[in-house]
Amino acid sequence: MLTRGAISQNEPRGKHKHLVSARSSTADSLSICALCGKEGELRASHIIPSFVGKWSKSTSATGFLSQSDDLSVRVQDFPTLPLLCSDCEQKFSSLESYFASKVFYPFHNKKVREFEYDERLRLFALSLSWRTLKANCGDEFKAAVPELVSQVEQAEIDWRKILLQGRFDGSPYETHFFFWIMSRKVKASLLDCNDTCSEPWMPV
Ligand SMILES: [Zn+2]
Repeated sequence: MLTRGAISQNEPRGKHKHLVSARSSTADSLSICALCGKEGELRASHIIPSFVGKWSKSTSATGFLSQSDDLSVRVQDFPTLPLLCSDCEQKFSSLESYFASKVFYPFHNKKVREFEYDERLRLFALSLSWRTLKANCGDEFKAAVPELVSQVEQAEIDWRKILLQGRFDGSPYETHFFFWIMSRKVKASLLDCNDTCSEPWMPV
């Protein structure tokens, strides 16, 4: 199972700096949690959960992750952004712990292929979508597809509300998981496609 993302390691690239907060790009906004909107010290929040990075390293041939746009660059962890306060980070951490113990590790280690699609799984999926949206749908995205901006901004508001409430309550949004078992052959071909590979980080 793979999770996609597209941001930098440790230090956000310039194009993502404005994504720290939805409110503004001023220095003050750097301390505003992107989820609850409260001021406070922001944590280094993973867009791709850290347990995925740990598992990827533990199952890689070298014990490292590599940056796909420069495979010679080894990284220790998936990228983070100063996105969430401690309370909201804990909220996401609980969802991640649930998903890791009930879905991710059973899928990989015990070959479990059927899971109950309950509210926690939906919330975890939505937390991934929301984080990915925050990390990737900034000014560059808005300039590229202006016709989608209003829909994306509305989705961000709606998803944030659901995540804060902890329930969907008849929301029209759907969440889906796709399980992708990657063969060694496919993995090797991905490692050979520096310029076209869509996986920004991968075990090597
Ligand atoms: Zn918060």
